[in-house]
Amino acid sequence: MTIAINRERLAATFAELCEISSPFRKEGAIAAYLKDKFAALGADEVFEDNSAVKTGSESGNLIVRFNGSLPEQQGFFLSCHMDTVEPADGVKVVRTGDVFSSKGDTILGGDDKSGIAAILELLTLLKEHNTPHPMLEIIVTTCEEIGLLGAKHLEYDRLLTTYGYALDSSGIDHVIVGAPAANKIKVEIKGLAAHAGLCPDAGINALTLAAEALSSLRMGRLDEESTRNFGVIQGGVATNIVPERIVLRGEVRSHSTDKLHRYTKEIYDTFEQTVARWQGGPATGDKRPLVTFDIIGDYPALSLADDTPVIKRIRKASAMAGKNLQYIVAGGGSDANIFCGYGLPTAIIATGMDKVHTLEEQLDLNDLVRLTEILHAVATTPF
Ligand SMILES: [Zn+2]
Repeated sequence: MTIAINRERLAATFAELCEISSPFRKEGAIAAYLKDKFAALGADEVFEDNSAVKTGSESGNLIVRFNGSLPEQQGFFLSCHMDTVEPADGVKVVRTGDVFSSKGDTILGGDDKSGIAAILELLTLLKEHNTPHPMLEIIVTTCEEIGLLGAKHLEYDRLLTTYGYALDSSGIDHVIVGAPAANKIKVEIKGLAAHAGLCPDAGINALTLAAEALSSLRMGRLDEESTRNFGVIQGGVATNIVPERIVLRGEVRSHSTDKLHRYTKEIYDTFEQTVARWQGGPATGDKRPLVTFDIIGDYPALSLADDTPVIKRIRKASAMAGKNLQYIVAGGGSDANIFCGYGLPTAIIATGMDKVHTLEEQLDLNDLVRLTEILHAVATTPF
């Protein structure tokens, strides 16, 4: 049995959300809008946490609680992020049939306002029909798009529920049950500057050392669960100066913690060995190149077994509602990884968003309706 979703109300909510500009760190207006909405829907608590001082956003994360009337059933949370990428100034939603897009000069913002719209429609339906449900907590984070900053600084001790669902993936009718962990890596090679024409022998070329190390490291897909990439290189001053300083920025991702460590260590070892092999001449004297590393664990892996409550619950609910969901493993990192790292198992539900982070971004209302049906099933199926 599926609930009759109010399609036009859902469409209007989605468009209204998209037209509240909310690029990362400028979430003040949408946070205020959402606080009012949640309060009007009868939330038992609407709380803005203190993360703004750490993220630099106009707003903290929102943690909203609806106690529900079924205390004997375990509650859960739903999460979304309220920030978008840019350009997001003056978003105007264009609807063509059932498909939403922007006018073409901004993003649409379906990432992640599709999820927020579905949550608001869910809560409206529950209130309207006075439907019994367990405790629901809604987490709406800031600054997801710039390194999951809101989630990293969430006030976790305010949460009463212990697992949940993040609504934040393109596609529809799938649930992400695995996502890799990632390390961010900065490598700095320090050589020695010299005039490239007059006395090149007196220099230590940091760029050729970087090139040598990089070319002996495999990049891209390393195995079925791991990837490696260097995406930024900075350094050098002029063509007639031996480059003294090169900074490289890269990442390693893996679903396996062991492999994440191993592939990260390979980078470390390769650069160390390359620099150690370097041989100077009389003009460089006792000068040696130096390499330093800054390796940061960006986010932990997300890995949810079939027998965990978070997966059992959505499997049961979707079966009861006649929904056939795919359970997949993905390659990205999101707030859900951070929640998992804090001991809160979080599955990611696809919201129908499409071509996100582009000016051609789209969303089909029919997908948004399907998402809301899934959420309603999860919220109302006894578990
Ligand atoms: Zn997103």
